[in-house]
Amino acid sequence: MGRCYNHHHSTRRHDMYALVDCNNFYASCERLFQPHLNGRPIVVLSNNDGCVIARSDEAKEIGVVMGTPAYMFQEFFKKNNVAVFSSNYTLYGDLSDRVMTTLAGFVPRLEIYSIDEAFLDMGDLAYTDLLQLGLDIKKMIAKNIGIPVCVGIAPTKALAKMANRYAKKKCKSVGVFYAANQELIKDMLEFTEVENTWGIGRQHALLLNRNNIYTAKEFTEMPADWVRKKMSVVGLRLWNELRGVPCIEWEFEPKAKKNICTSRSLGKITNDLSVIKEAISNHASVCALKLRNQHTVCRKVQVLIATNPHKLNHKQYSHSIVIECETPTNATGEIISYALKCLDIIYKPGDYLYMKCGVLVLDLIPQHHIQVNLFDVRNRQRDEKILLAMDKINKLMGKDTVRMAVQRFDRRFRLRADHVSKKYTTNFKEILKIKI
Ligand SMILES: [Mg+2]
Repeated sequence: MGRCYNHHHSTRRHDMYALVDCNNFYASCERLFQPHLNGRPIVVLSNNDGCVIARSDEAKEIGVVMGTPAYMFQEFFKKNNVAVFSSNYTLYGDLSDRVMTTLAGFVPRLEIYSIDEAFLDMGDLAYTDLLQLGLDIKKMIAKNIGIPVCVGIAPTKALAKMANRYAKKKCKSVGVFYAANQELIKDMLEFTEVENTWGIGRQHALLLNRNNIYTAKEFTEMPADWVRKKMSVVGLRLWNELRGVPCIEWEFEPKAKKNICTSRSLGKITNDLSVIKEAISNHASVCALKLRNQHTVCRKVQVLIATNPHKLNHKQYSHSIVIECETPTNATGEIISYALKCLDIIYKPGDYLYMKCGVLVLDLIPQHHIQVNLFDVRNRQRDEKILLAMDKINKLMGKDTVRMAVQRFDRRFRLRADHVSKKYTTNFKEILKIKI
């Protein structure tokens, strides 16, 4: 079994990947601090309380659909005793951080894929029983943080992603699936439709269906030439991945990145500002997480939005803007604020149908430099304590309760959030102990 890329650790004997994904992440975060909500349907709304962006299993069961505009379903929510929350990205970012930190303890390296997902490098672990390792991971995250996760383990990233979905659909109670041999991989490929395969977009799924290809298994049986011709080298890469040949590189960086960018298609074209705000907040939150992960802070935040340039009959607009941070930061709440400020400036309402948006954090510097800048070099330990105390107070009392004199924050950019939960993740008792 060859690999179709070169990378720095060619001495490794075999590849194995785990994809750990939090179940109904935002809803699980909200429930974590209100156990009386167990068994009750939970929905989380996008910024400005626009539409449903996360659902607990109970909410899915009673038929709440993603993207449902909240105002149209107030009666329904009331009648069905649905707990409704505004999105609280500071809380989600913080819990995500804790999940990632716990995951990082299991393996030499991990790649944060999104706010609630990470790939773990399981190649060449001393462990022989990877299924047991998957179960241990699930148990530890539940015990330490209280968030339910599913784990998929397989020889390539694309198969690991599929194994995770398979775990969710086929072995929900166990929550872990290890595609340990060809037979298990075959079952999984047969079970998964092409439209539910990671990396196959809607257009390609339709193309495949037109050619009588419905399952991932059937896709892997197509000739390589056909795949390359119809779906380009990107499709061929996926084809290889699903056949067990790793082609998708790791994206963790041994050296800190200069810039971090999170951008993605919105899923479908939209002119709904609340949907775009939600995506931007999400991207900003992932950027902040990646900054903290590599112990850097950013000096600038950039946001871009664009319509679909391939739709020639649509009105076209694309724009990007950079904002300089008052103080270099890696705080989730702050980076979201800057990103939404950017969006406010460049967003153009009207007939524009947006397809893509993204957040970049630029001019990264090591985290410890910021303290030198702010407080000079008199007493570093004391300065660190001040920052820590500030963080804790802000987390508990709301962002910018305490801030540096140089920081200004425009209140106009505050979002509407009628149902926002508290910043639970800071312990009040801890705050009182801090002496500056
Ligand atoms: Mg998830």
